[in-house]
Amino acid sequence: MKYYDVDIKIRDRINHNANYSRERPVLSIVVPCYNEQDIFEHSFKSLYALLDDLVKEGLIENKSYLLFIDDGSKDDTWSLIESASHKFDRVKAVKLSRNKGHQVALLAGLCESNADITISIDADLQDDISVIKEMIIHYLNGSDVVYGVRNDRTSDTFFKRKTAGFFYKTMKWMGVEQVPQHADFRLLSKRAKDALVSYKEQR
Ligand code: UDP
Ligand code: MG
Repeated sequence: MKYYDVDIKIRDRINHNANYSRERPVLSIVVPCYNEQDIFEHSFKSLYALLDDLVKEGLIENKSYLLFIDDGSKDDTWSLIESASHKFDRVKAVKLSRNKGHQVALLAGLCESNADITISIDADLQDDISVIKEMIIHYLNGSDVVYGVRNDRTSDTFFKRKTAGFFYKTMKWMGVEQVPQHADFRLLSKRAKDALVSYKEQR
């Protein structure tokens, strides 16, 4: 089963224009998880298949891996993560002692990652994982930060869409510079990631 579509334009670029300015990176995909037992198997399989394809295509190093952070889940999430990490070399697992919240779990994952590039994504895979390939190509061509932004929020509830819109407008009004429709789906080079984790703030 294929879990994502390959963008033809990107594939052409890979085949015919492999003169990237950077070396093939080790990728880690960081996934914070809190009570995700129902979705875990699906998310894990989708991300693992994607990682495997990216390795086979020669875009990332064989040592690339998925890094799941269990944020003190109360359901079976941790045992699912742990057993995947025992079965597969490309799966790493971290367990926080108790529930500390999404951003802290994400930061723990960033601190733990020692890859050349780290991509963070939510466990429910509401973001389109097929664009991960394009993010990596941007890195190979010199970008240190690549944001995944949503052009379609139909998977969100009406309430979530409205409150999200209000949130972005309010932040803009308060003078906060940010990327609209972007949450935590992003690529960071090691350089950018190290700079980010050197800040003391947790959120
Ligand atoms: N999450 C977490 N700790 C929490 C709450 C959420 O690690 O206390 C994780 C969750 O498993 C998911 C991501 O953070 O991978 C985003 O959570 P959610 O989908 O609930 O957020 P939303 O999409 O509503 O912003
Ligand atoms: Mg979500």
